[in-house]
Formats: sequence, structure tokens, C-alpha cells
Amino acid sequence: MLRRHPWIFSGAVQKVEGSPKIGETVDVVSASGGWLASAAYSPESQIQARVWTFDRKTTADSEFFRARIGDCIAARRTQGLDIPEGACRLIGAESDGLPGVVVDRYGDWLSGQFMSAGAERHKGDIAAAMLELTGCKGFWDRSDSDIRAKEGLVPHSGLLLGDEPPEFVEIDERPARFLVDIRNGHKTGYYLDQRDNRRAVGAHCQGQDVLNCFSYTGGFGVTALLGGAASCLNLDVSAPALDLARRNVELNGLSGENVEYRVADVFAALREYRDENRTFDVIVLDPPKFVESRNQLQQACRGYKDINLSALRLLRPGGLLFTFSCSGLISDDLFQKVVAGAALDAGRDARIVRRFTQAPDHPVALNFPEGSYLKGLLVQVM
Ligand code: SAH
Repeated sequence: MLRRHPWIFSGAVQKVEGSPKIGETVDVVSASGGWLASAAYSPESQIQARVWTFDRKTTADSEFFRARIGDCIAARRTQGLDIPEGACRLIGAESDGLPGVVVDRYGDWLSGQFMSAGAERHKGDIAAAMLELTGCKGFWDRSDSDIRAKEGLVPHSGLLLGDEPPEFVEIDERPARFLVDIRNGHKTGYYLDQRDNRRAVGAHCQGQDVLNCFSYTGGFGVTALLGGAASCLNLDVSAPALDLARRNVELNGLSGENVEYRVADVFAALREYRDENRTFDVIVLDPPKFVESRNQLQQACRGYKDINLSALRLLRPGGLLFTFSCSGLISDDLFQKVVAGAALDAGRDARIVRRFTQAPDHPVALNFPEGSYLKGLLVQVM
């Protein structure tokens, strides 16, 4: 509490006075009776309360949400991150002082996730303030993640406020354009955290044969092609994601003749290419989160090592591996060790030439280090 971390674990709670309802705002008081914070009560969760404010004079009402949301939007705008035709994470939960609330803007539409009991309780106020402050046309609720169960909430998705979004929303990600499926896409529809890293990949692809693993809707593939890639092979287990990847390639005015799409498990496909002696100049590995809790850490490391090892083997001399992990529980250090182990076992001399992190519209509050989750390395093999 004294470090202003926004989570209060159940083990730290001596007693609950009265009978607050799920998501209701409660006062957090120290053992000696001093007021500490105002927080949302999550009786079902191990995180029993999430702090709205450490300021006693502030009440978590609609004015409070409006003001905090205004600050979040202004912070992005001063950095030039919130271009109207583009897409931007406007609210990044704990890191933006709004625990459990994630809101992304895609063009004229907002797509949000309410992942905590407190967030759920106030979602009406939050959506109204967001529409008013952004001028967007509608707010679509994508609170359909299983994580909600930990908070005693059922998954839900649908229109929350305003107009229905179209089937696909087009966003300008400069230099690329993408179609986003707000209703059915992953998370809020798209992976904005990789925006800058997609650009970085594009800058290294002139004349290169690129393998884009875990391609989703083709993000890294499109920037690679815009950057002059000779060819691009997109791999994903999801056929609908690859269908949209194909449309995204077209949307960017690319011929598509040098692009392949393959519905496949990356683990198996990389082994197959090895058997076929197929090689590449650039490989992108952007897998989903492999680890949700500490007891999965070892298994996750094995997974990361497996794909990195297989990918390193397929690179031509001088080739580049863009390798990412979005598992918050895997530290930068640990990730680097896993990739180093993979290079060793692959028998490749390799060095780190760049490091990547999440885009600046996904900030990390200094009192919430858990907000840092995306890490990446650009590794060059000799
Ligand atoms: N790079 C993308 C985001 C990747 S998200 C972007 O920049 O937008 C992770 C993707 O991995 C998802 O599309 C998911 O369908 C896919 N995926 C998960 N497990 C997989 C597996 N074993 N093999 C292939 N694809 C997988």
C-alpha cells in the first residue's frame, strides 16, 4: 500500500466491515485505523480490492472517471499517438489508474474490456465519458475473456453504447492500413502493442524471404511486404485470421503473388521446414501468451525454447530473428536466457542487435511493474 501498488491481496485483509457488494467502492484502512485508499471490492478474487484512488478527497463517481479518462487521452495526444484515423490504446488498466479497464480506439469506434468487478460496475459511466471525450460513434464491449471468472463475472460481449461498428473497421497504422474485426478479433480486435515493432520489421525486409509465425491478421507480414520483402509466408492456426491477413495484404495495394498463407501449428511447421531444408532471411515469432500463472513458467520456457531453436535453424547466414514474448511472468532476463539456450542448442552463433517493448500507448506505471509484459529481441545469426 505504501508503495501505491493498486492491488490488495486477500491475505492482507484482516476483516471486511459491513457487507459491500461485488464491485462496490470500499475504504481501505490500515491495522492502526488510518485511511489508505478507496478501492473496488472483488470478493471472489485473490486480489480482493483494486485501488481507484489514494486521495481521500476523491470519490469514485462519474466525475472521477471522466477526469481520469480525460488525463489518459490527453497523455496520448501530447505524444501524437491518437491520430483520428488510426488506432490507439486509450486506457491501459492499472497502468492508467483504472484497474481492470482496457479501452482501444479503432478509427471511430471504441472497443473495451472490463476485467474486474469494479470495472464492470462502472462500465456505463466509463463508456459514456469515453464517447463524449473522443467523439467516437460507438462503444463495443469485449468482456468475453475467461479471466473474468476469477472476479466472479461471466463473459459478455456486445454493444455497450452508441452505434454498432461495421463488420471491419479500417485503421491507419502508418505506413500500413489494417482491417480490424472488433466483434470477433482477439482481445479488443487487434494487437496495438506491436505497432512500433511491426514498423521495425518492415525496415529490415528489403529483398528478403520472410517467415511470419503466429501471424494473426498479417500485421508483421504486411509491414515486411511494404518494406520490400521478396516473399512472405504467414503461419497461424486460425483460418479466419489468415483470411483477414489476405484482405489486409490487398488493402495495402500489395500484389499478393509472393505471399503464402498457411493454417498450421507453428511448432510442427518449423520442424517440417527443417526436414525440407527450407530457409529464410527473416523470421518473426510472436506467439500468444504461454504462461498465465507461475506454475506454468517452466513449461512456457520449454515452449519458447522450442520455437526459437527451430526458427534459428531455418535462418540463412546473416539472417534475422524477431522474437517476442508477451508473457508478463517471463522477465527480460529470463527470455534472453531462453533464446541464448536455443541458439546454443541450434549450434548458431548469434547476437542481439536490438531490443523491443510494448508501444508507448501501453505505458507501465512505476507503481505497477506488472504492466510491463511485451519484450522482444532482434537476433542476428552468423
Ligand atoms: N503478430 C500478430 C499477433 C499474434 S497473436 C500481430 O502483430 O498482430 C498470436 C497468434 O498466434 C494468434 O493469431 C493465434 O491464432 C496464433 N496461434 C496460437 N497458437 C498457435 C500455434 N501453435 N501455431 C500457430 N499459430 C498459433
